[in-house]
Amino acid sequence: EPSAPADYLAGLNPEQREAVETVDGPVLVLAGAGTGKTRVLTTRLAHILATGRARPWELLAVTFTNKAAREMRERITHLIGPSAEGLRWLGTFHSVAAQILRRYAELVGLKSTFTILDTDDQERVCKQLLEAANLDTKRWTPRSLSGLIDHWKNRGWTPEKLPSTEDFANGKGQSLYAAYQARLVSLNACDFGDLLLHNLTILSKHADIAEEYRRRFRYILVDEYQDTNVAQYLWLRLLTSSTGNVCCVGDDDQSIYGWRGAEVDNILRFERDFPGAKVVRLERNYRSTQHILGAASGLIASNKGRLGKTLWTEDQTGDKVRVRGVWDGEAEARLIADEIETARRQGVGYKDMAVLVRASFQMRAFEERFVLLAVPYTVIGGPRFFERAEIRDAHAYLRLILSEDDDLAFERIVNVPKRGIGDTSVQKVLQIARLSGVSAMAAVRDLLGSDELQARTRTALSNFVRDIDRWRQFAQTSTHWELTETVLEESGYTDMQKADRATGQTRLDNLKELTQSMQAFDSLTAYLEHVSLVMDLDRGDAADSVQIMTLHGAKGLEFPLVFLPGWEEGVFPSQRSIDEKGEKGLEEERRLAYVGVTRAKQDARISFAANRLVYGRWTSQLPSRFVDELPIDHVEAESDTGYYGVTPGMKEAKSRWDEMPTFGSGYSSPGWKRAQSFTAGRSPTDRPARHALIEGDGRLVATADPKAGSGWS
Ligand code: ATP
Ligand code: MG
Repeated sequence: EPSAPADYLAGLNPEQREAVETVDGPVLVLAGAGTGKTRVLTTRLAHILATGRARPWELLAVTFTNKAAREMRERITHLIGPSAEGLRWLGTFHSVAAQILRRYAELVGLKSTFTILDTDDQERVCKQLLEAANLDTKRWTPRSLSGLIDHWKNRGWTPEKLPSTEDFANGKGQSLYAAYQARLVSLNACDFGDLLLHNLTILSKHADIAEEYRRRFRYILVDEYQDTNVAQYLWLRLLTSSTGNVCCVGDDDQSIYGWRGAEVDNILRFERDFPGAKVVRLERNYRSTQHILGAASGLIASNKGRLGKTLWTEDQTGDKVRVRGVWDGEAEARLIADEIETARRQGVGYKDMAVLVRASFQMRAFEERFVLLAVPYTVIGGPRFFERAEIRDAHAYLRLILSEDDDLAFERIVNVPKRGIGDTSVQKVLQIARLSGVSAMAAVRDLLGSDELQARTRTALSNFVRDIDRWRQFAQTSTHWELTETVLEESGYTDMQKADRATGQTRLDNLKELTQSMQAFDSLTAYLEHVSLVMDLDRGDAADSVQIMTLHGAKGLEFPLVFLPGWEEGVFPSQRSIDEKGEKGLEEERRLAYVGVTRAKQDARISFAANRLVYGRWTSQLPSRFVDELPIDHVEAESDTGYYGVTPGMKEAKSRWDEMPTFGSGYSSPGWKRAQSFTAGRSPTDRPARHALIEGDGRLVATADPKAGSGWS
């Protein structure tokens, strides 16, 4: 039973309500974290539908992740009932662009069955091109080329439009890019960036098509607008009709995708593009307690060039943000796992707790600890599961069955499991294919008709072609999961895994998981498209489990209890972004920290370790400068036992690095700029290390021996 309009509008504050009800003309909602931007967008959608201004398929709504899109759909259904069905164009930029591209694929030389390549495939293509151009792939790596091409696509540049200032390998940038695009077309494939880039080509070259979509999309809504890149921006512009019924919501302080070409300037440009646009500011935060908000606001205040906003909350309850220093990464995992168990006993659901890491390598320690303690957890964000070799192999089979042009898939599995088709033969096939401009499969068929093959290879290849043909036939009558099972069995792939005592079982389990998850899709194409598009895999979403994800993946989400580990220089802020982008990189890292802290509703807990195993080597870590930037009024530095961290006694202590034994690391406590403590020992693996507290005049105040479990003395 759909509710009356008043119901879904009730509870909104006046500014939110204004943003919801100003349906005609451009609206920009510019506001800080947790002020209800997403809620406004969702309610606005509901409002447009409920008041009959548009039908579901006439709305274009873009969110940043598939998860966000799904949540929005659920929420609208909840608000207005079944009339929310048919929201075809609610999704991520990529998923919507993919829909449009499927329909007009021929216009850019693709068939509608095109496959979407992942980064692995992209790099493989780049490698081939670099080799063909006789470039040293150590100096000019496939990865850097593929990254650069991505970057160009994010800026909306096709090879023809590439500015002359952009280059790769001394003048070969444009030709490599053009060759890459041509190669993808011959593979009947596109990469992620192409989804939008091809859309731009189609929409700008074919006025009638653009006009059709502009007429169709009577209202456009965009969440997380601060993270749109140039290509996405241009795409939105092409789809926005002159009535300009477009509503964008965003927060400049949460722009964290600069490395992917996002432009905060798009926010500023909005008012220029849409003169007379209504700009709504929201200042009340409904998500977090005052301490969380205070800590986050204090932190982000260190950034320059902000638009600046006021944020307040009525929630005066809750603890200060806790900051803890620990000995090493394992201790951090132990601490957090223990606290999760404690919180759980106090009635907090596992799913209400999240561990937000800067980089995925940090996840392992938590995963291991959680497994050990049987804490249920889900890793969200990053197509980790789909990146596993066995999953990629299975997909390669399916892709080749679906599209004979897919040479990358061919190359991947033609000799997996081993069929006695050597590398030389494969290279030969690929070479012939290239020379005669046909697919590898077609080249094989030709070769089989000639007498150029050795008997053994001939048999193997002919069996391979026969199998693929048979499976393609089988696909006509079977479900795609039956097809997958059959292919894995008949190809000998399952047997190959069974023979592997070490990891075979895990891989078979993953493959089982794969065939199960496929059943949720109507077709193989739909499934493979989904795989390419998922950024957030949420197995076990329904289950009660702790959520582990990267800070990037946490955007827009909220949790009662949030753990923020690894706040150490080099880890967070990440060394790489500082090295690559200097002050700008640092500011983006700080916005990421702001995003992290503002995910918490009741409780945020930051931690850092004095030692960390990075790429197999122990390194001493300094606490993140962000720890120091947290305003002391909203933070509590905590230490249960007096060791591993910060104690009140350290307040006046000052470091004296030279006096420490050979191995040591120092950290200061939040807000107490001058205070530092040192952990010291003879070697990193020599755990019985000492913590020392040293006064400003160099006097040793106290020491602690973590191993003996003693406090300061
Ligand atoms: P972010 O910047 O992190 O994406 P946001 O501005 O999109 O945040 P929302 O996620 O929409 O904020 O809202 C934050 C929380 O506040 C949600 O739990 C939402 O339901 C709640 N909220 C928003 N507006 C109101 C309101 N008027 N009354 C009560 N709760 C609200
Ligand atoms: Mg939001």
